[in-house]
Amino acid sequence: MDFTWPAETAETFARIATATRSWPADETLSPGRERWRACGELGLLGLSVPQKYGGQGHGFVTTARAAEAFGLGYPDFGLVFSAMAHLLACAMPIAEYADPAVCEHVLPKLCSGRWRGANAITEDTAGSDATAVRTSAVRDGDGYRISGTKTFVSNGPDADVFVVYARTDPALGHLGLTAFVVERGVEGLTVGEPFGKLGLESCPASSLTLADCWVPGRARLGREGQGAAVFQGSMRWERTCLFAAYLGQLTRVLDRCVRHARQRRQFGRRIGANQAVSHRLAELHLRLEAARLLLYRACWRLDQGEQATSEVAMAKLAVSQSAVEITLAAVHLFGGEGVRCDGGIERELRNAVPSTIFSGTSEMQLEQIAAGLGL
Ligand SMILES: Cc1cc2nc3c(=O)[nH]c(=O)nc-3n(C[C@H](O)[C@H](O)[C@H](O)COP(=O)(O)OP(=O)(O)OC[C@H]3O[C@@H](n4cnc5c(N)ncnc54)[C@H](O)[C@@H]3O)c2cc1C
Repeated sequence: MDFTWPAETAETFARIATATRSWPADETLSPGRERWRACGELGLLGLSVPQKYGGQGHGFVTTARAAEAFGLGYPDFGLVFSAMAHLLACAMPIAEYADPAVCEHVLPKLCSGRWRGANAITEDTAGSDATAVRTSAVRDGDGYRISGTKTFVSNGPDADVFVVYARTDPALGHLGLTAFVVERGVEGLTVGEPFGKLGLESCPASSLTLADCWVPGRARLGREGQGAAVFQGSMRWERTCLFAAYLGQLTRVLDRCVRHARQRRQFGRRIGANQAVSHRLAELHLRLEAARLLLYRACWRLDQGEQATSEVAMAKLAVSQSAVEITLAAVHLFGGEGVRCDGGIERELRNAVPSTIFSGTSEMQLEQIAAGLGL
């Protein structure tokens, strides 16, 4: 067993952490095209996309380590989330399942930052239960007509292209789901207004309505009925590499906590001199390192070509639970400063809370782990 990073992984990590540390953090509602382009120029928007389509062609371990560097270097986690959702849940399913002509048309624009991508599976009545998707895709000539309404589409308000999941055979449950690439300009497609939410402010989210939108047959990802597999594939990327970005965020937050515990004095001594504080920080450090090991083991298994379903679920669960625990403890450690909106600590907690919900809730990860145990 060898725990050293491959040279390319280490170089990528150092390059991205250094570059993103120098970016000014502006938490506007939606990151401007300029910052988005900067993500593209640094290679962040195409980390795992094949080089022939403008990406870097990295596997899971290096993509995750690069995402970790981004989360470590850049404090506006909404932008980090936005970039990773774009890459892992839109560009990757296209790279893995689309017709080569569609890949050539779409992926270079997504990798360079000329376009922004989104994925749309969730509906008002289909959240954890993706088999309940009601959006339909009906064959029409040499294409499909798609109708339905999606909700909670991250990047939706700014997206140029969407991966949309629709039902091609209502009788077949999850086997009747099919994924499509839908471009923004298509007739009948309406993007809703961005809505407010807890955290991740600079990744705007909205609804998406498709009213008899016609797409050509080559817009289909994979075969008819392969939508559930396409979605699971994108979740393998997201549950590992997007959550690696949280490892970066948490490393940054814990470093700040340790510095604060060493500097802040009360009762004539550093607050870190109290065992109640130092042991709590030691526990949180242990929590983060355990989550990190689970995550990179899952990435390594995926790079070996394994499904690693249970390992991926454990990694997602461990990182998201650590994120909430560590950022909540950070608010507490900073006392009054921790809850001030100008202190930067409460923002970390807000950005952490949604992590136990998206990419499958904690209960859904426990379901996968239990299934792996044969339960
Ligand atoms: C920040 C953020 C970004 C998102 N981005 C996107 C996106 O880009 N595209 C997209 O399509 N969707 C996106 N989503 C939606 C997300 O995938 C769903 O919110 C998630 O799958 C949960 O679905 P739901 O909100 O309908 O909750 P529900 O499924 O209604 O769940 C509500 C609660 O019930 C629990 N529950 C449900 N079923 C069970 C069960 N069988 N056993 C035990 N507990 C259960 C859940 O764990 C949860 O605690 C995003 C969500 C968030 C928060």
